[in-house]
Amino acid sequence: TTRVETLEFQAEARQLLRLMVHSIYSDKDVFLRELISNASDALDKLRLASLTEQELRVDTTDLHIDLEVDRDARTLTVRDNGIGMSREDVVNLIGTIARSGTAELLRSLSEARAAGDTTASADLIGQFGVGFYATFMVADRVSLVTQRAGERTGTRWESDGEGSYTIEDVPDAPRGTAVTVHLKAEDAEDRLFDYTADHKIREIVKKYSDFIAWPIRMAVERPAPLPDADADADADADADADADAAGESVAATTIEIETLNSRKALWARPRDEVDQAEYNELYRHLSHDWSDPLEVVQMKGEGTFEYEALLFIPSRAPLDLYTRDARRGVQLYVKRVFIMDDCEALLPNYLRFVKGVVDARDLSLNISREILQQDRRIQQVRRRLVRKVLATVRNLLENEAEKYRTFWSEFGAAVKEGLLDAAEDSEAILEIISAASTHDPEQTTTLRGYVERMKEGQTEIYYMTGDSRATIENSPHMEAFAARGYEVLILTDPVDEVWVERVGRFDDKVLQSVAKGQVDLDTEDDRKKTEAEREQQRTDFAALLTWMGERLRDEVKEVRLSSRLTTSPACVVGDTFDMTPALERMYRSMGQ
Ligand code: ADP
Ligand code: MG
Repeated sequence: TTRVETLEFQAEARQLLRLMVHSIYSDKDVFLRELISNASDALDKLRLASLTEQELRVDTTDLHIDLEVDRDARTLTVRDNGIGMSREDVVNLIGTIARSGTAELLRSLSEARAAGDTTASADLIGQFGVGFYATFMVADRVSLVTQRAGERTGTRWESDGEGSYTIEDVPDAPRGTAVTVHLKAEDAEDRLFDYTADHKIREIVKKYSDFIAWPIRMAVERPAPLPDADADADADADADADADAAGESVAATTIEIETLNSRKALWARPRDEVDQAEYNELYRHLSHDWSDPLEVVQMKGEGTFEYEALLFIPSRAPLDLYTRDARRGVQLYVKRVFIMDDCEALLPNYLRFVKGVVDARDLSLNISREILQQDRRIQQVRRRLVRKVLATVRNLLENEAEKYRTFWSEFGAAVKEGLLDAAEDSEAILEIISAASTHDPEQTTTLRGYVERMKEGQTEIYYMTGDSRATIENSPHMEAFAARGYEVLILTDPVDEVWVERVGRFDDKVLQSVAKGQVDLDTEDDRKKTEAEREQQRTDFAALLTWMGERLRDEVKEVRLSSRLTTSPACVVGDTFDMTPALERMYRSMGQ
């Protein structure tokens, strides 16, 4: 006796489903990629569990993904014999969206839709990666039967994607998961969306899932083998009979199981043998991003610790890049066996957006995250990965300006975090930083570029931090610098405050805030002014300065004459070791 329960989707899941059911994304084929990707993950997890969990006794000799078509019922089933899900897993994983950034995504989506902007919303969906829910672009009903490895009872889940789903126990289902997609009736006549046709399925698998390590199999019809030559010769006597026989032999078919994907590990293949399209698909599988990567980085380590690495620099930042629970980049494999996602030991936090695979030859399959963090060999690999990624960005900067600009506008703020906690990378990071500057309103500059333009006699790199370019440009602090033709860097990311303080110098030149301390901007002409003239000024204004100092006693430490201003009568400056105004605001907004 199994009880059928009806449950509601979580509110956010419901919103996302509505978007899928009334499909706003034009490339519906990707639903199959998402299902295959999940099946592949489930097989990875099962293999790892079989190697590391002694009590789990499972047969892993024939792990695969089967695609099954029922043309009459118009269904397509994706079946794996992987790890499976418990009833609780199904409710938690399929009925809710746990991923961070969901609320933000849905807000941006509804804004884009309110503005009638359908491309923007499709784009946002792609960025989010809707996974399993993508099936509702092509299905009016989806059912799933699953049984977790090691358990005796399975679970059946079914939904039309409209708000609720049913769930019930099934006694003794096969291990793993089968997802059955009941294709929409309205697409029945459209050859473009005929997901029951062999050629269509084959094409999608080739395009999106060729690199998947597990066999993706399908039963295909093939023409039966031709009758042998002797039989043909015998039939010669009767021309009509011959034609009939030939006609029959063409019509007869046999069913064969075909493996649709080539299953090649891309990171083990030489760069020039792999198409960019193949890299793009692996990237999408790893990142859940639907756009193409900006850059592919391949590496190989030989000697005492062998490894192969294939890294991707995305072309846009994920929504959760700056949230605490942001997904971290790299997958760890050991000799082609998937070990873990989000391997934080392999890349520093400031490069958390880099995706990819590191496949090591000589590590224990049981290795824990804690041990990895301390492993000297892993630390060496990490150093090499970091250096290679930073060198790749530097190469973009020098040779592919457009790509570099994309990179910097998406990830620059994250990369600058590296200046706070990775002293050993500072030098390389400083070489790839770029910032707005008073030199050119349209273009950013590198620090190197700034130094090359420094005026005769200028010894410091001037910068000002603030909320926006406009606030900074209109600040009285800038006047004297503008009047004397000094370039000032315009730094508007919150992290800028902190790194300039921490780093202090670039190329042996002090980074000097124009809003702090006594900046000596005197030119040769100024210096020629006699000391007597200065003394005169000081006496002339002495009474005013004393009076102002008293009136503002609670607000400021000191009131003094300044050569920084040209048109504004007064400005507030910080002491050299004070916080700048923007930093003060940042700390205040953090509640400190
Ligand atoms: P994602 O794959 O990005 O986590 P999905 O929506 O594709 O998101 O899937 C949600 C979760 O459901 C997966 O993380 C996985 O835990 C579970 N899941 C989906 N398909 C399968 C499957 N075939 N076998 C086991 N678990 C699955
Ligand atoms: Mg998925």
